[in-house]
Amino acid sequence: MLLYNTLTRRKERFTPLREGEVRLYTCGPTVHDYAHIGNFRTFVAQDLLRRFLEYLGYRVLQVMNITDVDEKTIERARRKRVALEEITRRYTQAFFRDIELLNIKKAEHYPSAREHIPAMAELAEMLLERGCAFRDEKGNVFFDVLSVDYGRLSGKRPKRRLRAKTVREDYDEAKHFALWIRCSADESFCWESRLGWGRPGWHVECAALSLRYLGERVDIVSGGEDLIFPHHENSLALCEAVGGEVRYFVHVKHLLWHGRKMSKTLRNYHTLEEILKRGYSPREVRLVLLQEHYRRHLDFTFEKLEVARAKLEALDELLGKAPERKGGMRVRIRTAIESLRREFESAMRDDLDVERALAAYWGFVEEMLEAKLSGEEVEEVRRTLLDLDRVLGLVYSPG
Ligand SMILES: [Zn+2]
Repeated sequence: MLLYNTLTRRKERFTPLREGEVRLYTCGPTVHDYAHIGNFRTFVAQDLLRRFLEYLGYRVLQVMNITDVDEKTIERARRKRVALEEITRRYTQAFFRDIELLNIKKAEHYPSAREHIPAMAELAEMLLERGCAFRDEKGNVFFDVLSVDYGRLSGKRPKRRLRAKTVREDYDEAKHFALWIRCSADESFCWESRLGWGRPGWHVECAALSLRYLGERVDIVSGGEDLIFPHHENSLALCEAVGGEVRYFVHVKHLLWHGRKMSKTLRNYHTLEEILKRGYSPREVRLVLLQEHYRRHLDFTFEKLEVARAKLEALDELLGKAPERKGGMRVRIRTAIESLRREFESAMRDDLDVERALAAYWGFVEEMLEAKLSGEEVEEVRRTLLDLDRVLGLVYSPG
């Protein structure tokens, strides 16, 4: 299978580090609010990747972190004057309900950041010992980006003279970033460690969880394209500083709404719940999120949901079709089935070209709906569609 690797900026033949097994790290949601369908575009694309790897016979070991302790989450809890747990519990539950509605396969592990604070402090400590990190005068611990070959993923190379100025994120240029942010014991959201009272920076979260659950060598790290810099660049630096390795980075392009990125900041987002309230089904949403190639921006429209509805009705009709003639399997039908399989697989092997795979798929559905099929043919058509559905995940009854 060919997969586009952000690290090398080209399609590469995918070979996992261990035979037959793929270790996949996917950056999960920050549970300070509902996830919107722009977030779910990424999760559905990763689901397609996971499902196709399984279809090819790989065993997939997937980890998705739940970020329940970053600055945004803390900020929201403070503003609303409620316990951090109350906020994160509510949105974590909503997240799991939504991924179930969208038929996204479960990862093997969903570690919560808050439950792994010691592992993050230990990683920061280890990096200090190795000379890849330093303390500032306030006791914050920073990763020294000059200590590794920093910038290979995003192309953002650090200047040689760099100072750590702030623990806040800077999205413009390569700089030292916070591993452990000092705070005093009487503050809420503060943990004690050998580095003193404080809390971990975001990038150390994913690096520590990935090390804990997948080990030092990871096949694929995946997330939305906005994570390339600084998050994945920083996570990669941490991983390499402790002798680890990431082979492939797979990034999913944004979902657009009227030509602009759907985001919380622009306030132009839709949640799944909201779309379902308008009378659309989770399957229709899944199909729209899935049907365009993950390396192209997806323009989300309600017209696309209407088209998806018609496609799924045709699929359901074909799956429920009764035989209309006697006799066995004709060559014409056998050939159509074989060429669907060939085209579908070869498209998906080419960097998950789901658009080409689905063109063949819907063409086949239409053709078979029009054909008068025998009992044997109906059975074979159904078997084929259900087998390909291990990849597409369109045949299910939500909720
Ligand atoms: Zn992450």
